[in-house]
Amino acid sequence: MSGGATGVPIQPKDSRGYFMLPQAPEDAGYYVYGNLHGVPGTGDQAQYAHPNLLTVVFQIERQWQAICDRKFGIGNISIDGGKTFDKHKTHQRGIEIDCRPVRKDHLTGQAARCTYLDKAVYDQTATIQLIALFMQHPWVRLIYFNDPEVQKAVGGVRSCIGHNDHFHVELLGRFAS
Ligand SMILES: [Zn+2]
Repeated sequence: MSGGATGVPIQPKDSRGYFMLPQAPEDAGYYVYGNLHGVPGTGDQAQYAHPNLLTVVFQIERQWQAICDRKFGIGNISIDGGKTFDKHKTHQRGIEIDCRPVRKDHLTGQAARCTYLDKAVYDQTATIQLIALFMQHPWVRLIYFNDPEVQKAVGGVRSCIGHNDHFHVELLGRFAS
């Protein structure tokens, strides 16, 4: 991110006019992770978000910071222009977002990946709290995450292959326009 003459950073915008998720300033309630096509350090290129999704993220970030001092990890949202970048053809509208489960420690960044089966580091209680914040948001349509205990605790969370180490949140389609 480059600084302008005023020192105010210019937030990257894609061809749709969607802004990149702010890359986790120090005081944010989240950190960013991920990469595009396996290339390290390219996660930001998959974090162009519809303004409605940014609104949801910033609301939940504030709620989260009030109940927990750990940051939650945000990965894929969408790439420039909404072109497909995975075989599932999701994450094209800027209203889908992948987040990591919460860890018991404060580790952030690429190495902070964990699955719901990693009992030593996975914080199930905190993850339930975080996923509940998303699910309670009136704009959220669905959440995928494979921990059966989370599904029991938060109605509407469903299983989907590949969702052991992150949960997928999607807004209602009308929030993509
Ligand atoms: Zn996803």
